Amino acid sequence: MIFITNDTQKPTYIWSKLETGTHRIYHMKTEDNQVYTETRYKGDATFNNKNFYALVAELNATKAMLSKNDPQELGQKIYNGTIKLISRKGGESKYKEIKWPIILEDDERKWTNVKPVIATTVLPPPLNNDCECDICIEE
Ligand SMILES: [Zn+2]
Repeated sequence: MIFITNDTQKPTYIWSKLETGTHRIYHMKTEDNQVYTETRYKGDATFNNKNFYALVAELNATKAMLSKNDPQELGQKIYNGTIKLISRKGGESKYKEIKWPIILEDDERKWTNVKPVIATTVLPPPLNNDCECDICIEE
């Protein structure tokens, strides 16, 4: 699962030691300023042990829904639009606005509610012979 970041519009490359162009840091950020920072993205939609879809479910579904479903599956359905969340106010029901966690390269960026896009085709990472990450500097 490769996302396009909300700020740089670049793919979340899968980290590999030899491909220094993949040595990038990604931050998954929520409206209430939870930040999950991943330094070696594995392509599993997980940032610092927090799964994107599980977080989508946690941020949007009711406690009752969360207790009855696997959060990751529920989040996937919310992302794909195969279930709609409804809010009821004074006898009126409407679709709830989904609050998305966003994927950033710059963790200082303010959260805005933009659904992260999944990349369909990903070009090879750019060459980066001057990488200054911890691993490259040690060698
Ligand atoms: Zn590096």
